[in-house]
Amino acid sequence: MTIREGKQGAAAGAAGRFRTPPPRIAIAGAGIAGLTMALLLARHGLNATVFERAAALEEVGAGLQLSPNALRVLDQLDLLPALREVAVEATSVDLRRSGGRRIASVPVHAEDDTPYLSIHRADLQAVLLAAVRGTPAITLQLGAELGRVSTDFSAATIEVETNGAREHDVVDLLIGADGVRSPLAKQARLAPAVPTGTTAWRTTIESADLPPEFRPANVVAWLGARHHAVAYPIRAGRAVNLVMIAPGQETDPASGETVPQQFRSWDSRLTGLIERAAPPTPWPLAGAPASRPFVIGGDRIVLIGDAAHAMAPYAAQGAGMAIEDAAVLAAAIAENADITAAARAYEAIRRPRIDKVRNRVAFHRFVYHLPLPFSLGRDTVLALRPKAALRSDLAWLYDWQPPGIVTAPA
Ligand SMILES: Cc1cc2nc3c(=O)[nH]c(=O)nc-3n(C[C@H](O)[C@H](O)[C@H](O)COP(=O)(O)OP(=O)(O)OC[C@H]3O[C@@H](n4cnc5c(N)ncnc54)[C@H](O)[C@@H]3O)c2cc1C
Repeated sequence: MTIREGKQGAAAGAAGRFRTPPPRIAIAGAGIAGLTMALLLARHGLNATVFERAAALEEVGAGLQLSPNALRVLDQLDLLPALREVAVEATSVDLRRSGGRRIASVPVHAEDDTPYLSIHRADLQAVLLAAVRGTPAITLQLGAELGRVSTDFSAATIEVETNGAREHDVVDLLIGADGVRSPLAKQARLAPAVPTGTTAWRTTIESADLPPEFRPANVVAWLGARHHAVAYPIRAGRAVNLVMIAPGQETDPASGETVPQQFRSWDSRLTGLIERAAPPTPWPLAGAPASRPFVIGGDRIVLIGDAAHAMAPYAAQGAGMAIEDAAVLAAAIAENADITAAARAYEAIRRPRIDKVRNRVAFHRFVYHLPLPFSLGRDTVLALRPKAALRSDLAWLYDWQPPGIVTAPA
């Protein structure tokens, strides 16, 4: 195994103009963060090798909401047409009380017409994977698990195990996109992601099995004391994603619990979905401690996505932040002759934004789960706010613009 260098000379875009030889970059993990990262590096004229321990990228996860901040990055990669084919565009997030009464409708459209999409994670990954396979600058190795890594001031030495065989290589930068349980973070003895004390119960329902009144056109969120549920269409409208968030760290399906009882007495539009859904899968939610660094190993290892800052999905931004991370890190690498300076610049740019999103996650958790009588105050305040004000509350999040891509000269 030899990690390829980036393209040489003028054809390498900004990075090539500054560096000889161009950097050797490896990425651990071919999830949303890792695939997006490789594609963006390629757009900046840089090669990358992606190591993924799974032998095949199969259907993992369930539905995701992708807001305009993330989709602007995927638009830079010309992926919006392919995403629109498999996703559904939302115009608002409708907030309802647990009994069904509408509280408010929060607009999610963007002024620049970048959509807000609901999509199955597997469909998003498939679109990214097809783009990766069509990009010669990217080497994707499936069934390749990153093992021990050592760093010094000049490079990182990585060990990769493929089919029981171990190989070593030397890279200038290792990007850890290896998920919430990041083995790289563990190796660096960073504090692990900690349970949030809540579990997401996820399932999907075929739209064909649903009477029209049970098919949500937009994103719908039902709010109740210490619980909430969210439903939205995915798979170009052929299915509905349902996630129910409840207290507890349920991990054992043998415990007999299938759907937290609380939800069975909620809005009939929700119970109608529950009755027609396959038993949901419990997904205990964890978050990475905010104090953890994103850059480790003498600035030769950079963590992105859940590996850096896994957070509970109350603001629907985990994948969005992973995609934003990739845009910022790729631009920093393209702009900095010194790759360790690029790593530090990435952390400096991303940390304040990630902290702000984390605060929003905590705020949503608090507000969504308010018990009576406090929830009545919440609902009055939300109902009185004009739609434009609800949208502008989220302008800092949804109107984020990614750094530009310096296209390689022909
Ligand atoms: C219930 C729920 C709802 C959510 N809803 C939303 C939403 O609406 N919007 C949103 O933006 N986000 C949402 N998220 C969050 C989102 O799913 C994650 O933030 C996102 O998928 C993280 O992507 P990632 O690439 O960082 O990690 P992952 O998708 O976990 O990818 C990590 C990859 O690294 C590989 N790997 C691990 N270790 C190694 C190794 N040693 N060597 C090689 N490969 C390795 C793994 O096999 C995996 O493929 C939700 C999450 C949950 C749980």
